[in-house]
Amino acid sequence: MAAKTAFGAMGVRDLQAGLAAKEFTAAEIASATIDRIQQSDKQMHAFLELTADMAASAAKKVDSAIASGKFDEVGALAGIPVGFKDNMNLLGTHTTCSSNMLANYVSPYTATCVEYTLNAGALPVGKLNMDEFAFGSSTETSAFGPTLNPWDFQRVPGGSSGGSAAAVAAGLVPVALGSDTGGSIRQPASFCGIVGVKPTYGVVSRYGVVAFGSSLDQVGPFARSVEDAALALNAISGFDEHDCTSQCVDVDFTANLAEGIKGMRIGIVPEFMEAEGLTDEVRSRITEAAQKLADLGAELVEIELEHAKAAMSAYYVLGPCEAFSNLARFDSVRYGYCDPGHTDLDTQYETSRSKGFGPEARRRIMLGSYLLSSGVYDTYYYPAQQVRTLITQDYEHAFQKVDCILSPVSPRTAFKFGEIGDPAQMYLSDMFTISINIAGNGGMSVPVGLGSQTNLPIGAQLISPAFKDVNMFRVAAALESIYGKAPIAPAFAEKAGE
Ligand code: GLN
Repeated sequence: MAAKTAFGAMGVRDLQAGLAAKEFTAAEIASATIDRIQQSDKQMHAFLELTADMAASAAKKVDSAIASGKFDEVGALAGIPVGFKDNMNLLGTHTTCSSNMLANYVSPYTATCVEYTLNAGALPVGKLNMDEFAFGSSTETSAFGPTLNPWDFQRVPGGSSGGSAAAVAAGLVPVALGSDTGGSIRQPASFCGIVGVKPTYGVVSRYGVVAFGSSLDQVGPFARSVEDAALALNAISGFDEHDCTSQCVDVDFTANLAEGIKGMRIGIVPEFMEAEGLTDEVRSRITEAAQKLADLGAELVEIELEHAKAAMSAYYVLGPCEAFSNLARFDSVRYGYCDPGHTDLDTQYETSRSKGFGPEARRRIMLGSYLLSSGVYDTYYYPAQQVRTLITQDYEHAFQKVDCILSPVSPRTAFKFGEIGDPAQMYLSDMFTISINIAGNGGMSVPVGLGSQTNLPIGAQLISPAFKDVNMFRVAAALESIYGKAPIAPAFAEKAGE
C-alpha cells in the first residue's frame, strides 16, 4: 500500500484506481485525510470544522460496495474526500459563513450541491473558511481569523472561498466546493495555483447555500486538475426543484477534454490586457498563454466588451442591494446572534446586528439599504440593471465571433495580509471576474505558472458562453497540457506525498 500520507497528492482517478485495485480502502483515505488536516492545517486554518465521523461512515459504504463488486455503482466521486465552503448547509454541522452572527447555527438540512456530492460517493471531511458571508477577496473578513496562502504564509489565499482554495492547493483534499458572486472561486484559485470553476448561472443549485447576491451567486468546484474539476461539476450540476434558477443541465463536462483546440476561436480583450493595475508579470503570462494556445491551433480573435468597464460599478450597486435583502433574515429572532444587552425589540435588532456582523458585512448592508431607499433607487439601482443588460449583450455579441475568451483572473498575484486596507482597492481584485457573474456566463481559473517577479501562482481566466461551459473546459485542458497539472504548494508537497 502507498504510504498513508501519499493520498494527498492523488487526484480522483488515482484514488479510484487504487480503490478498485484494493491497494487501499476508502476508510484509510478518510482517516489519513483527517489526520493530515489535523497535522497540517493548524497554522494555515483552511478548515473551520472537521466531519471525521461522516467521512468514516461514507467511506464504509464505499468499501462495502467494493467488497460486493459494486464499486461502479457508487458514483463519480466514490471515495474522494471533499471539503465544503462554510456557507453550505450539511445537516448537523455548523454553517457559520465565518460570521459571529451564525457562530452557533447548526444546519437543519443539507444543501443540494452537498447532497449531490455525497450521492456521488464522496467523503465529506469538513467545512472551510471564507470571508464573512462571502464579502471579500482575502478571507481577512472571516470572524474566526484568516486562512493563510499555502504558497506563502505572509500572504492571503484570496477570497471569499479562500479556505477551499488553500485546502486543495495544500493537498489536504483533492476537491472542494466554493461559491462565486463576483470572483470568489476564480480569484482564490488563481492565488493558490489551482483550478477553480464558476459554471454558468443555473448549472448548480444554490438551495441550502447561504445567499449573498441571488442573481449572481453560483457554486462550483476547486481541484488540482481540469478533469477532477469537471468530474466534480458533473456530480453537483443538474436540476433541483428547490432552486427556481436551476436548469436541466445534463452535460458531461469531461466530454471533450481530449479533443484539442484546433480551430477554436479564442477571444482576447485588449482593454483587459491594457487595464490599469494589471501587473507586468500577469500580463506577460496571459499573453504567453494566448500564444501557446495559438501554437496548438486555436485562432486568436480580438473582441470588444464595450461596457465591461462599468461592471465594477454595477456590481457594487447590485451586490450590496441583494445582500442587504438576503441578510435581513439574520434578525436575531429567526436566525442569528441575539445580544443579551437589549431592552426591547428595536434594541434587540440593533445591538444584535451591530455586534453579530463584522465591518465589511455592515458596510454592504448599509450601502444596500441606502441604494434601495426611495429617491435613491432610480439613481443607482435602475441604471445598474441597465448596465447589466448592456454587459450581457456585449458577451452575446462577442460569442458570435469566438468560442471562449481568455483573460487574466486577477490583476496581480497574492498580496500580503493587511496590504490592502482600503475597501475600494480590495474591490479591484475582481475587475476581470465580475462581468461574468453579471452576464451569467461560465468562467474558470486555470494555472499558467508562476510570476516572474513574485514567484507566486498566476491563473488564466477562461470565459464561455452561457451553458457552453464545455468550451472553457476544452481550452482549460489545452492549457493544462502546456503548463501541467497544478502542483501542491511547495511547503506542503512532502507531507502530501508529492
Ligand atoms: N470579492 C467580491 C466581493 O467582495 C466577490 C465576492 C464573491 O464572489 N463572493 O463582493
